[in-house]
This record gives sequence, C-alpha cells and structure tokens, in this order.
Amino acid sequence: MYASEESWREVDAYFADTLVAEDAALAEARASGARTTLPRGEVSPVQGGLLSLLCRTAGATRVLEFGTLAGYSTIWMARAVGEGGRVTTLELTEQNAAIARANLERAGVADRVEILLGPAAGTAQRLIEAGTEPYDFVFIDADKPSNPVYLRAALALTRPGSLIVIDNVVRNGAVTDPDTTDDRVRGVRQALADIAANPDLEATALQTVGVKGWDGFTLIRRRA
Ligand code: SAM
Repeated sequence: MYASEESWREVDAYFADTLVAEDAALAEARASGARTTLPRGEVSPVQGGLLSLLCRTAGATRVLEFGTLAGYSTIWMARAVGEGGRVTTLELTEQNAAIARANLERAGVADRVEILLGPAAGTAQRLIEAGTEPYDFVFIDADKPSNPVYLRAALALTRPGSLIVIDNVVRNGAVTDPDTTDDRVRGVRQALADIAANPDLEATALQTVGVKGWDGFTLIRRRA
C-alpha cells in the first residue's frame, strides 16, 4: 500500500518537530520565502538538518552554494561551519538577496556569509579565475538546466575529499525519461551522466518524500 502525500507531510512534520526544530530565525526565513521569486523553493527543515550534518561530518569550514533564495539553506550551513567558517552563496536576483541578507542578520550569521549577485555561472567562473581557495562542501540548488555547468565549476572549486550535493534530481520521477523535453530534467540527467563518466567522483542519489513531494538529491565525493 502506498502512503499518501498527506502522510508524507505528517511524517516530515513529526521528524522536523522531534529532531530539527527551527528557531525563530529559521522559521522567519522560511516564511519570508513567500516574498521571493520562488515561494516554497527552499529546502525542508529535515533537508536543512541533513545539509548541516553533512557539513559538520565533513568538517567543512568553506561552503559554496548555488541558489540563495531567502537564505534558508544558507543559514543551516552557515551555522554548521561555525564562527571561523565561511559560506559563499550565489544568487541571481537582488530581490531574493535582499530578503536573504535580512534573514542572515536575524540568524546571527551574516558576518560569515557572502552573497554574490548575478548569474551563477559567471560568478563561479570569476571565483575560478581568482584562484579561490577550495571549498569543502558545495550545495547546487539554482536553475536546474545549468546543473552540468555548476557541477564543472564545483569541481574546479573543490579539492579531493570535498562533498557536493545536487538537489531536486528526481522531479516526480521524470529523471528516468531519456526523451524528456524539460530542460530542468535534461540538466539533471546530463549532470548525472557527467558524474558517472568521471572516475574522480563517487556518488549516490536518494529519493525523498515529504513536505516537498517526491524528489531527491545526489551526494558526490571527490576521490581525486
Ligand atoms: N537553496 C535555497 C534554499 O534551500 O533555501 C533555495 C534556492 S531556490 C530552489 C533557487 C534559487 O536560484 C532562486 O533564488 C533563484 O533566484 C536562483 N537562481 C536561478 N537562476 C539562477 C542563476 N542563473 N544564477 C544564480 N542564481 C539563480
């Protein structure tokens, strides 16, 4: 028997309440998503908790994020890197960046987060050309057609042992369709093919259900 979407949401809420309760700053950041260009586009609380644990487990002090929105996931990762850590997050629109700045301030992590405004492909290229110190953890969560570009940039901006997470790789199951005409799904499939073809990478992907419906993420580790 299949559980309904309602029961996925109930279980998500139970896990969130039990294990990863949001403080006021996180709750407000999530609520502020309604004023962004992509309402409800942020990760769920349990996903935020996972990003935080991955950063802490990896001992990450330098994090790069593609796609800031209201800064919800940014707050989770900024708290995980600690006071000496740094998060660089790339965002297209000033509207979202302004909302994120206020949320980061409220969460007490604005001093360790830099929001770089503009198309992320160009911003990442500038970071590469500037010889930016490698990041320990990268979260790719911006426009999905550009996933292969962001993955290449992430590889140029990390070191062996770094972790990369790409969000939204299931897309209600559409990821399995080789004939898809959806550029977002194409972006996901191309990135997965690039990962599979790269002997320097080890990766897996997990499907998730919950408040965000049916989706999932890829977790990648650089071996070399
Ligand atoms: N990571 C955020 C979170 O979980 O709280 C959610 C990010 S939301 C799914 C995607 C974000 O990527 C949006 O804020 C959108 O404006 C941004 N975006 C879309 N295209 C972009 C681009 N070409 N360059 C940079 N950011 C982009």
